[in-house]
Amino acid sequence: MCKHILNAQVTIRAPCCRQWFDCAECHAETQDHPLAKTIEMAFLCKKCKKAFRKDITLYEESDEYCPHCDNHYVLEAKTAKPVVGVEGEDTRVDNRMLRDERIKDAKIRSTNLDDDLEEFMKELNA
Ligand SMILES: [Zn+2]
Ligand SMILES: [Zn+2]
Ligand SMILES: [Zn+2]
Repeated sequence: MCKHILNAQVTIRAPCCRQWFDCAECHAETQDHPLAKTIEMAFLCKKCKKAFRKDITLYEESDEYCPHCDNHYVLEAKTAKPVVGVEGEDTRVDNRMLRDERIKDAKIRSTNLDDDLEEFMKELNA
C-alpha cells in the first residue's frame, strides 16, 4: 500500500526496472536508480486488476478512466505528508507522558499522610 498517494487507483510500471509502483516516490524509496521517463505508460487498475497502456503524449480527458471498468483513476492525489505523520506520533507520546505527570501530581496532592507519601515514593522508585 502506497503511503504517498492514499487514494491511488492504479499501479504504474516503472519502465526502468519493470516493477510495479503506486507512485514515483515509492520507486525512489525502494530503488537506487532514477525512474526512467517513458511515453507509453503501463498501468494496472486496482479495481479490476487489468493492465492497460497509455501514450502520455496523446493524453485526453477520456483517458482518465480505466478502459476495462471505467474506474476514474486520475484523481487529485491525497498525499500523506510523512513528516507530519512522524510529528503526530511524537505528540501522542508527549501527551501520554504529560498525562502520566498529571496523574502523579494528583496522587501526590491527595496524599496527606507521610506514610502514604513514603509508600508512594517507593512505588515511584520501584
Ligand atoms: Zn526503476
Ligand atoms: Zn508512493
Ligand atoms: Zn479497471
